Amino acid sequence: MIIDAHVHAGEYYRHYSARFAQEMTATTDRPPEALSAPEEKLLAEMDAAGVDRVVLLAFDVRRVEGFSVPNEFVAELCARHPDRLTGFASVDAGTPGAAGRLRHAVSGLGLRGLKTAPCYQHMSPADRRWYDVYETAEDLGIPVLIHTGYTPSRNADPRYFSPLLVEQVAKDFPGLTVILAHLGTPWTRQCVDLLARYPRLYADLSIFGSYQPPATVASALAHARDSGVLDRLMWATDFPFASMTESVTRMARLAEDPGPWPPGSAPLSPQEYRLLMGGTARRLLAAARPRHHHRPSEPMT
Ligand SMILES: [Zn+2]
Repeated sequence: MIIDAHVHAGEYYRHYSARFAQEMTATTDRPPEALSAPEEKLLAEMDAAGVDRVVLLAFDVRRVEGFSVPNEFVAELCARHPDRLTGFASVDAGTPGAAGRLRHAVSGLGLRGLKTAPCYQHMSPADRRWYDVYETAEDLGIPVLIHTGYTPSRNADPRYFSPLLVEQVAKDFPGLTVILAHLGTPWTRQCVDLLARYPRLYADLSIFGSYQPPATVASALAHARDSGVLDRLMWATDFPFASMTESVTRMARLAEDPGPWPPGSAPLSPQEYRLLMGGTARRLLAAARPRHHHRPSEPMT
């Protein structure tokens, strides 16, 4: 089973601002319109790449950027294709009621995780305003996917790029499952070392696996293997920012190519490849079946 653990819902004219779309695509050979991933395009890409399921993300940057890909929009898509799409909510702890919105997105809308975007939301992942959101995620039994690493968006705050900022969260919430996006690119070694210290941390390979030279990806995977965390890395693309078909082909080569490989690297074993391409994500998503408690509901805003 192949699972893409990081995919964006949303359409250029309907959701994203023109400025954001232009900046995000400026370093690629794609036009801003390529940021659109309507239902048919997403499912066609999955079919072409042989991808069984994707984690589909909402994106709440209303306070800073003036737009969002709403939880309701993602939930509707997931409800139409429950066999192919698993939705993650997005909330902004910089606006009041974020924890309540997360609880509603999971218990009311059926979403199965949380996506946060600290550099886009101009707030460290360790900012105390996130803590009731993290408590809610832990209580609901859902994973939190945190953007870490660089972004070409000029309005993003570079103080919040580093994956090391997640360490305080891992310390304060030892029961919370956290996924670091993009393997913290370009701080991939620090990201792997952080995973080695905290057993509930995971990372996805989106963008990194699609755009870095194969030798760089092979070295990072070898470092993860040597650190004992390869089974907590998950293949992902960040589609539509990267192609699923091209990325699947690249990853298959990392398992099949006889070399030469960078010193210390070796091809992925069939077992390692299966876990990376979907086995680990499947296990994580299965463990994250939200618990529905009977507790007083929080006020909605
Ligand atoms: Zn992303």
